[in-house]
Amino acid sequence: AGQEQTYLYDMSEGNAQMRSLLGGKGANLAEMKRLGIPVPDGFTVSTAACIATMESGGEWPENLWEDVLSSLERLEERTGRSLGGDAEGRNPLLLSVRSGAVVSMPGMMDTILNLGIGDDTVEALGAEADNPRFAWDSYRRFLQMYGEVVEGVAPHAYEDELTALKSRRGVEQDTELSTEDLKELVETFKDVSRRELGRDLPTDPRDQLRGAISAVFDSWDTPRARVYRRANDIPDDLGTAVNVMQMVFGNRGDTSATGVCFTRNPSTGGKELYGEFLLNAQGEDVVAGIRTPKSLAEMEQVLPEAYEQLLQTMRDLEAHYKDMQDIEFTVEDGTLYLLQTRNGKRTAAAALRVARDMVSEGVLTQEEALERVEPSQLDQLLHPAIDPEHGKEPLVKGLPASPGAAVGEIVFDADTAAQRGGAGDPVVLVRYETTPDDIHGVIVAQGVLTAHGGMTSHAAVVARGMGKPCVAGASGIRINTAEKTLTVGDRTFSEGDQITLDGSTGEVYGEALELVPPQINEDFEAIVTWADEVRRLGVRANADTGEDAAKARELGAEGIGLCRTEHMFMASDRLPAVRRMILADTEEERAAALEEILPMQQEDFEAIFTAMKGLPVTVRLLDPPLHEFLPDLVEQSLLVQRLELTDGDADELARARTLLAQVKRLHEQNPMLGTRGCRLAMLYPEIPEMQTRAIVRAALAVREREGETAGVEIMIPLVAYSAELEAQRAVVERAVAEELESAGTDLDVTVGTMIELPRAAVVADQIAEHADFFSFGTNDLTQTGIGISRDDAEGGFLGAYVRDEVIPYNPFESIDRDGVGGLVRLGAERGRSTKPELKLGVCGEHGGDPASIGLFEELGLSYVSCSPYRVPIARFSAARAVL
Ligand code: PEP
Ligand code: MG
Repeated sequence: AGQEQTYLYDMSEGNAQMRSLLGGKGANLAEMKRLGIPVPDGFTVSTAACIATMESGGEWPENLWEDVLSSLERLEERTGRSLGGDAEGRNPLLLSVRSGAVVSMPGMMDTILNLGIGDDTVEALGAEADNPRFAWDSYRRFLQMYGEVVEGVAPHAYEDELTALKSRRGVEQDTELSTEDLKELVETFKDVSRRELGRDLPTDPRDQLRGAISAVFDSWDTPRARVYRRANDIPDDLGTAVNVMQMVFGNRGDTSATGVCFTRNPSTGGKELYGEFLLNAQGEDVVAGIRTPKSLAEMEQVLPEAYEQLLQTMRDLEAHYKDMQDIEFTVEDGTLYLLQTRNGKRTAAAALRVARDMVSEGVLTQEEALERVEPSQLDQLLHPAIDPEHGKEPLVKGLPASPGAAVGEIVFDADTAAQRGGAGDPVVLVRYETTPDDIHGVIVAQGVLTAHGGMTSHAAVVARGMGKPCVAGASGIRINTAEKTLTVGDRTFSEGDQITLDGSTGEVYGEALELVPPQINEDFEAIVTWADEVRRLGVRANADTGEDAAKARELGAEGIGLCRTEHMFMASDRLPAVRRMILADTEEERAAALEEILPMQQEDFEAIFTAMKGLPVTVRLLDPPLHEFLPDLVEQSLLVQRLELTDGDADELARARTLLAQVKRLHEQNPMLGTRGCRLAMLYPEIPEMQTRAIVRAALAVREREGETAGVEIMIPLVAYSAELEAQRAVVERAVAEELESAGTDLDVTVGTMIELPRAAVVADQIAEHADFFSFGTNDLTQTGIGISRDDAEGGFLGAYVRDEVIPYNPFESIDRDGVGGLVRLGAERGRSTKPELKLGVCGEHGGDPASIGLFEELGLSYVSCSPYRVPIARFSAARAVL
């Protein structure tokens, strides 16, 4: 009690480690100041102040305003200037008020520039700079920003007036307006505010400062900021800091400029100059993509000294942070200032290249490099690309702002994109320019196309961060938002028409192009190979064909953790035989059907064992939800009725009736909880027996032909009782023994089970008596453990649960740690209590999910198994789980 918390930090008090209190921007500004890099002076209102304000429903903590005022006083002393100027309005201090979250959220939150300018100070500022035009330009910018950001006036209210004035003057660029024009605009903007708000904007700069800080606090909780945080897994309770800094002016004339640059190319990772600038402009002109900026290389000609200094600063910052930096700068009358540095958002390809290059450059260790890459970035690189053989002419070309291929239907606004994309339709969002308010549409779109804006516009930065293909600044397209059309030359496209973007080249095609599987490059190989040196968990693949098995091996799988044999049964040449097997009325009929299937199965297994020579392959015996193999009950009934009514062929009717009777007999209300897994095999042991024979014959044939075969592991699905496994194991072992005896040879075959029912997890100690290994089937364990149907969950209540944050994520995508994860833990512990050496795998979809892999590492499981294209992600995530 009595101890007052301080919420304010002068810039010289901070450093890069104080990120959670000062936000990323504040901490890095303080760090730059420590390093002797020129940054404008200022102070930071901490995240703690924002959090305290949010917690009390918008009320500022008691001493906050006093603290702000004393920080301001110190800043006034240091700069020798005062907010609002002296008695004559001279020597005014102008401020920028900028958000600064702990985790950067480019463009999502608010900024107010030029605070401190007003009727009393504008003339003095113009005189001081010997540039009245600049002072009036700053004033109109302030009115516009304050009105929009703090008072909530709709942006177009000011923008429309600006556009109208430009057209009255017959000019295109803001910079072509005269001082007199800008004076007029200031008065017009005041009128706009009065009209929109019914009152004047506050004129006391201290009131404005208070309003601006509050507005930045509030911008933490805008819908777009929340959407962005959800998409990027950023907690909602971090709050933002507020950086109050002395303004430096990039709009002070032709020796002033503002720009954004990256220390490496954020699209490719290449070590090259990458950035954009605008002469005589302020920061928001560049990032908002309102004026299309010039490339950084051109700065050498116009501002040579500042350019050299910028290059040196870029090198220094990268060396200091040991990571690629994204930098905002301003040149005021030839002097360079840094306004921000942060680790740059980059594409997946760039992330890998930068990580690998920095290891070669001796900047990072391999392990540090692994921490610079996210599993989702590997995932992006495993997505399809445009078929290079397409031979089509592009419709138009823009800037290659974020690589990757996007194919989808054109939509012209973010709400439609959010709605249609959210429902699963592939859409491409086409906008004149995107603003941060489009974020909810960008997230679900396949890609983004804009007519306007540069490589560092928010559209581009956000898209790259999310791995969304983006073509920006395609100035050859004309968009009519009212009519919902896009026109290029004489071709016009409407909403719903197909379009393809190539974000790597900037090309846009007026049709849907074919995609091809991804190409894995050397950077990718290097990173996952480093991961292999670190990880403990094994990584296998789920594969049902020789082709998939070969692909999985190529991607680094160390075996097959799940071969689902029912998928082989579904092939069209097998389905009739499989149906005969299921529907057989007599043992002879069933035996005949099985005879027919056996060689087909053997052929399949031979292909897989050949592809996986020398590595283990877990073959799971038939797990058939019967309804997947039989005609639909309703359709079959209708067929019978139709035949009855039309007096059709008597034989056909008889066959249809028999089939209907059989379907009725086998019909189950809940087939997922029905005669699935080993339950069918318990009723008809001749099925697992046939499969076992096919497996053994295939292994022997491959060994004979290739000199080596795969390690054979036979797995029994959907076991709930140890008696089931005991019985099935006996069937399998008998068939193996008979096959080996008749072949006069030996083969190691192990027999294990899936743990995919809660009962199995609970009695895992009993089940382990009969098992050589367990594999957790986390799909069914989620279905039965939580009690949510796998097949119906997606669109239904589960989607609403995730949307409304009843639960944090879909448990079929990432394992429910506490519940289903608890069952896995129980199963593992109890299984190992019987057999300490029991091998434990996971073969549900969660085996390829980075967060779930973290849990499986914690539980000390032996391996995960996932679909072939997720194998590299699993290898990588398994390494990250131990780092
Ligand atoms: C599982 O249930 O997790 C599993 C791997 O088996 P399937 O998805 O084939 O039911
Ligand atoms: Mg299952």
